[in-house]
Amino acid sequence: MFMNHNLYALLSSHFPADPAAACMILPDGRVWTFGDVERASARIANLIVALGLKPGDRIAAQVEKTPEALVLYLAAIRAGMVFLPLNPAYQRHELEYFLNDAQPGLFVCRPLMRALADELASRTGVPHVLELDDEGRGSLITAATPQADAFTTVARDKADLAAILYTSGTTGRSKGAMLSHGNLAHNATTLHSYWHFQPGDVLLHMLPIFHVHGLFVACHCALLNGSAMFFEPKFDPARAMKLLPQATVFMGVPTYYVRLLLEPAFGRGSCRNIRLFVSGSAPLLKETFDEFRQRSGHTILERYGMTEGGMFTSNPYDGDRRGGTVGFPLPGTDLRIVGAGGTALQPGSVGHIQVRGENVFVGYWGMPEKTREEFTDGWFKTGDMGTIDKDGYVVISGRSKDLVITGGLNVYPKEIEELIDAMPGVVESAVIGLPHPDFGEAVSAVVVREKTAAGAALTEPAVIAAIKDGLANFKVPKWVYFVDQLPRNAMGKVQKTLLRAQYQRRE
Ligand code: AMP
Repeated sequence: MFMNHNLYALLSSHFPADPAAACMILPDGRVWTFGDVERASARIANLIVALGLKPGDRIAAQVEKTPEALVLYLAAIRAGMVFLPLNPAYQRHELEYFLNDAQPGLFVCRPLMRALADELASRTGVPHVLELDDEGRGSLITAATPQADAFTTVARDKADLAAILYTSGTTGRSKGAMLSHGNLAHNATTLHSYWHFQPGDVLLHMLPIFHVHGLFVACHCALLNGSAMFFEPKFDPARAMKLLPQATVFMGVPTYYVRLLLEPAFGRGSCRNIRLFVSGSAPLLKETFDEFRQRSGHTILERYGMTEGGMFTSNPYDGDRRGGTVGFPLPGTDLRIVGAGGTALQPGSVGHIQVRGENVFVGYWGMPEKTREEFTDGWFKTGDMGTIDKDGYVVISGRSKDLVITGGLNVYPKEIEELIDAMPGVVESAVIGLPHPDFGEAVSAVVVREKTAAGAALTEPAVIAAIKDGLANFKVPKWVYFVDQLPRNAMGKVQKTLLRAQYQRRE
C-alpha cells in the first residue's frame, strides 16, 4: 500500500475533525483555526509551485515569529521543498554564507532587509525574493492570496529532506544539518506519546521558531495533537503569567524558568491547569529546578537533544524526574558513552556522548567529509560529554570543546560550576580554560555575584579558598572574573567562546 511519508501528511492526519478548532491563538485574541492553516498553507504551496520551484529545492526564511511564518514552513514541506529557517538576528555576513551554501530557490525576508536581500540574492544566484513582515503581511501573502486554497500534499519518502537547520556555530563555520521527513516524524511521534499529549491540551508557545526547540519539538507536538497553541512572538514573563493559567503545557529554555521565578506573584495559582513543564536547549541549574518545584508544585521535565536529531533523552513523564539529569534515552534512540579511544565506558564514567536512531540527521549539507568525521559505525558524535548514572539517568557535563585540559589533566567545567554556584552570594558561573604558559590551559571562573552583602564579599581569593577544600588542586580555578551577566545566545546557552575571547591570559 502506498504511504506518503511527507511530514505534513502525518501532521494533518491528526488535525481535529472540526476545521473551526483553534490552532493558534494570538496576543490580540485573533484565532487561526486548523482550517485556516490548511487553506493558507495550500495557497503558499501553490504559489511556490507556480514560481517554478521543484521538490527538493530549498526555501530560506528570515522572518519574525508570526502564524504566517509557521504556515510558510508547513507549506514548504507540504510542497516537498526543504525549509531553511534563519535567525532574524543574522546580518549580511551570515546571510551571504547561508544563501551561498544552501542555494535556495526562494528567500523570504523582512521588508527592512529587502535591499540587502536583493543584493545578496543576485550575488548568490537566488532567483526569487519575497517579503513577510512582523504583522504577517507582505509580498509573499499578496502573491499567495489569489492561489487555490486546496493542495495535494506532495509524496515524499522517509529519506527525503524536509529541513536544513544551521547549527548555532559557536566555533568555526556553521553547518547545515539535513533533516529528513522520517527524522522529524520519528521524533514528533515519540515525544507526543512520551510526554502523554492528550485531548484538551493547550500549549503556551513562547519559543522562537527558527530553532529545533520551538519549531519541531513544540509545534510538532501541538499539531500532532490537534491542539491549540497560545502563539506569542517571544517570551515575556508578564504575558506568561497571564496565559499560564489557561495552558496545560509549557516548553522553555532554562532562562524562561529563572525569569518566571523572579515574578513575585508566580506560584501554584499560576500553574493551576498545567500538567507539564519542559526545559531544554541548555542546562537547567539544580537550584532553579528545586525552587521551581517549591514555588509551583511542579517538577520540570528536563530533556536533551540538538539540531542534529531533535530530542535524544528525556526525564520520565510518570517516574522520578531528577534535577541535574536529562533522563533516559528516548524510545528508538540508542545512546552510549565512549572514551577518548572510542571504547564504550561503564556507567559512572564521563566520556563522549554518541547517539543513533531514526531521528538522527542525514548529514551536513555539502560537507560529506565533515559528515563522515562526525559519525563512527553509524553512531553520531554529539560533541557533548556526559555520563550515565547507576540508575540509567544521563548527566551532561558540557561540550567536549569546553573541556579544560590543564597540565594534561581533564577538568569538566560543570563539576566546578556546581561548587561555585552553591556558594552564598553567587547567582551563576561559567568555567572555561584560558591559555597558560605552564599548564596549557588554566581553569578560570567567570562569576555573577548577587547584589547582596554575601555577593559583595566575594573576591577572587574568597572563591578560590571556598572551593579548594576537598577538590584536587588542578581543578581549582587559578583566575576568577566577575561580571554582571553571562553572555547567552537566543536559546539561553552560555557563549563560552565569547568568554574565552574576552578573558585572554593573565600573567
Ligand atoms: P542546539 O543544536 O542549538 O539545540 O544545541 C544543542 C546543544 O545544546 C547540545 O549539544 C547540548 O550541548 C546543549 N543542550 C541541549 N539540551 C541540554 C540540556 N538539557 N542540558 C544541557 N545541555 C543541553
